[in-house]
Amino acid sequence: MFELSRQFAEEQDQSDPLKTHREQFYFPQRNGKDAIYFCGNSLGLQPKKVRPAIEQELTDWQHHAVEGYWNAENPWLYYQQYCSKPLIDIVGASQEELTVMNTLTVNLHLLLMSFYRPTKQRFKVLMEAGAFPSDQYAVETQVRMHGFDPETAIIEVAPRAGEYLIREEDIFEIIARESSSLAIILLGGINYYTGQLFNMQSITKAAHRVGAVAGFDLAHVVGNVPLKLHDWEVDFAVWCSYKYLNGGPGAVGGAFIHERHARDTNRQRLGGWWGNEESTRFKMEKGFKPKSRAEGWQISTAQVFNMVALKASLELFESAGMAALRDKSIKLTNYLEFLLKHIENIKFEIITPKNCKERGAQLSLLFHDKGREIQQKMTDAGIIVDWREPGVIRISPAPLYNSYGDVFHFYEIIANIDSNA
Ligand SMILES: *Cc1c(COP(=O)(O)O)cnc(C)c1O
Repeated sequence: MFELSRQFAEEQDQSDPLKTHREQFYFPQRNGKDAIYFCGNSLGLQPKKVRPAIEQELTDWQHHAVEGYWNAENPWLYYQQYCSKPLIDIVGASQEELTVMNTLTVNLHLLLMSFYRPTKQRFKVLMEAGAFPSDQYAVETQVRMHGFDPETAIIEVAPRAGEYLIREEDIFEIIARESSSLAIILLGGINYYTGQLFNMQSITKAAHRVGAVAGFDLAHVVGNVPLKLHDWEVDFAVWCSYKYLNGGPGAVGGAFIHERHARDTNRQRLGGWWGNEESTRFKMEKGFKPKSRAEGWQISTAQVFNMVALKASLELFESAGMAALRDKSIKLTNYLEFLLKHIENIKFEIITPKNCKERGAQLSLLFHDKGREIQQKMTDAGIIVDWREPGVIRISPAPLYNSYGDVFHFYEIIANIDSNA
């Protein structure tokens, strides 16, 4: 179904229903041309609408000052909601289950405060071996804060010897084995290194069967693969907004809390005025009364300037639609995989699952040697991809702004790299 030709790639671009979205983004310039940008899994590109949107907030601040909370073009009092509305479809949640606040690791800590409530019997955390460092540090310090030893309290599920991916049956086996001691499962929905997408629904089900909580870090999933967090009964999830969501560096992140927990105002949490019922927030009375929804976990006032770009980008997601984005993404990444199989001059292994249902946009190329040099050669040729120790180049064509032409152009460049030079 794919062809190894520039003409084929151009035809695909012409018939791409999402082709106009590409023009809504700025591409970094390399060697006097648009770079081939496959790093949207690390930092998404800047939508052209961002600069005027920031200008708007600056103008409103200038003209309205404090009254901007009510009188700005986009009243600041409700700024979180401009972002949480479009996110509902992206993560498959109801409005009451979603909030936009803080950044990923901060949200992970806040939700672990609520959902990791260890007892002497049930205190273990199951996570993936080689999880993203921030997640490891968060869990390690949470475990210590509760007086447990990370050595015994953290169980890591690792790929089997000689393999790169985690087998789901091994996750289930640990859940069954640790059934009475397991407090929580925390996995990256997609592993940042291998690109492996986990079946969050069946893992959640297995966790619940033994009385454990299921939480997910969706940094590499949100805006990449459609989610149904509510239907899957996931307990909680957190994400950042600067990867596939293009919210800009340090953009405000998000959190999902299933309605069965979000409505429970007795659940332990760290409070602040923005999580309090709006009707009594300004009464300055004693006694924290959390909102009976995910927003009940908010602490501080809306970080308007850290949400402007996200708001602008989410409007593009709304017009594209997650289903259409996923359709294109599968095709685009499959095309990349097809072309990579024709590369003979450099030696690597694609460790990302072959089945498109077990991956998102990213392919991870494992190099047993010369990986860094090859990544440098790609960079010199105007390709932006990243290197992750110990041996992987990650390549992520983002369906919102990448084209089949980008993928083919990438192939042409790397097919001509001299790996012996
Ligand atoms: C990108 C990423 C993070 C980043 O966390 P911040 O708090 O936003 O810096 C955390 N976890 C995973 C899995 C990531 O991919």
